[in-house]
Amino acid sequence: MSRIVGIDLGTTNSLVAVVDWKTGLPRVVPDRGGRVLLPSIVAFTPDGVLVGDAARRQLVRRPETTVYSVKRLMGRGYEDVRDELCYFPYKVLPCEGIVKIDLGGREVTPPEISAIILKSLRDRAEAYLGEPVEKAVVTVPAYFNDSQRQATKDAGRIAGLDVVRIVNEPTAASLAYGLGRLKEGVVAVYDLGGGTFDISILRVKDGVFEVLATNGNTRLGGDDFDRAIVVWLLDDIRERYGAYLGRDAEAMQELRLAAEAAKIRLSTEERTTLTIPFDAFTYHREITRADLEGLVERLVDSTLGPCRMALADAGLAPADVDEVVLVGGSTRVPLVRRRVQELFDRAPHSQLNPDEVVAVGAAVQAHILEGGITDMLLLDVTPLSLGIETLGGIVSVLIPRNTTIPTSAREMFTTSVDGQTLVDMHVVQGERELVRDCRSLARFELRGIDPMPAGLPKIEVVFLIDANGILQVTARELRTGREAAIEVRPTYGLSDADVDRMVEDSFVYAEADVEARLLIETRNEADTVVTHVERALRQGGGLVAADEREAIGVALEVLRQIRGGTDRDLIHERTAALNRATEHLAEVMMDAALKGALESRRATEIAASPGES
Ligand code: AMP
Repeated sequence: MSRIVGIDLGTTNSLVAVVDWKTGLPRVVPDRGGRVLLPSIVAFTPDGVLVGDAARRQLVRRPETTVYSVKRLMGRGYEDVRDELCYFPYKVLPCEGIVKIDLGGREVTPPEISAIILKSLRDRAEAYLGEPVEKAVVTVPAYFNDSQRQATKDAGRIAGLDVVRIVNEPTAASLAYGLGRLKEGVVAVYDLGGGTFDISILRVKDGVFEVLATNGNTRLGGDDFDRAIVVWLLDDIRERYGAYLGRDAEAMQELRLAAEAAKIRLSTEERTTLTIPFDAFTYHREITRADLEGLVERLVDSTLGPCRMALADAGLAPADVDEVVLVGGSTRVPLVRRRVQELFDRAPHSQLNPDEVVAVGAAVQAHILEGGITDMLLLDVTPLSLGIETLGGIVSVLIPRNTTIPTSAREMFTTSVDGQTLVDMHVVQGERELVRDCRSLARFELRGIDPMPAGLPKIEVVFLIDANGILQVTARELRTGREAAIEVRPTYGLSDADVDRMVEDSFVYAEADVEARLLIETRNEADTVVTHVERALRQGGGLVAADEREAIGVALEVLRQIRGGTDRDLIHERTAALNRATEHLAEVMMDAALKGALESRRATEIAASPGES
């Protein structure tokens, strides 16, 4: 079996790593010069295409044809990136839903650029392993959507690599620290690189990683630290030598490089000296760690808000976090570590090189897929889609067929009847649109929901398939906290022939199924409107004139009569007609509600005032 490598395809740098079969230890693969970081830069020159450090040297000479930060463009449309185009010196054009990069006559897509980077890493891995490499696990940010993930897979294909798995970067970093072995826990992954900041909150349970929340800033990183130092140096030079170098591109480049080097030294030293030979004078300046911290403190502190927001989105407090993982070169800055430790009140994992930890995790995942690690995660795919029955006997799929397990998915549902206190949960498996054509896996009830109007309860359904293929379904009503759960083994009693037949049927009946689903959805929509209008008439009917009430009553009755038929357009039309007939009633009710709210507010204000005067 051919090896599977782990690749961190980064915005600034990319790396490839493999796990040694004999020792089981991961190793980041160096190039011939011993460097492990490959700058994610591709330069198109008259002499050919350059990648990495060689391409970086073209940044100043050929800004229009040297492409960096292409990850920011992957799988995105022109409208998505329009606001960011000012950051790219190369030309980006819209092209059928995606973007292309115009290299002066030649147009290339972001996956093609990424493929050049991947190909370079593939060559590196082949030279190191002494065998062809055709498969890879590639990491992406947790917030990447489907098209961004697909674009990453496309890049692999163009580079001759089968991307056997896309892994979230924070999950990879957690795997590198062995956190996949945790029975249960919450992991915060704080990732501060050169140009981006990401915070991810993950829940790990029995080897399954679930991304609970992500936040961050796509324009914040170590480069901003460097800029803050440069501004400080420019002021100092002006004061001491009377020269302003801010408009001298070459001097600025020198200053930036010196600032970054000083910043890096200050991660381990208390003070350091910068020496920059300019034409007119040689500049010397001592800078202490305290100076640096004064310059970057505001930037570092600005990462804490997104951390708190991610925690809030996950419904957690800092104390709920069990493990903190640091990723990205800028987490070597001592002030960053201190702030992260203060926020979560625990020492973060930092033993591994923060530049390499994602690639190492990708290699661990790759090794699991190769069968090299058997005690961690058993990876497989779901042979058939898994979902639950919703109103009218339609299947709502939570985990599509062929999803790699372990996996999890969550979705919100609500009730369809006023005062409903019980929900029947029906877990089904199959590729057809209607429940009656799928395999029934399990049923259970969620009871004890407070009686509320239809549509108000929030029922969160979570599907979790663990490494052993066991599906756990949990339903929780968020207002009352009522919860019910069930466990099933979806593949139990299912032969390969069954799976084939069920997949085949879904193709044969595709059209009829979609038609049936649409009809049910249209009826559901009609029923929802009928329920709402009935409620509105009960509560606010007296606010409008009798003839208006009567007109609404007629439209309501017509819809009730025809909703059971099969003419989808007619049901749709009558639903719209009922909606139109009640527009005025809705307005009047809204005004009355608003007035009521204002009056009660005035009442509270009046009640509060005597004590204040
Ligand atoms: P990454 O995007 O993860 O490769 O991180 C690159 C950023 O980390 C750059 O801004 C580097 O200047 C910064 N960096 C790398 N090493 C160190 C270090 N020892 N101390 C401070 N910053 C560092």
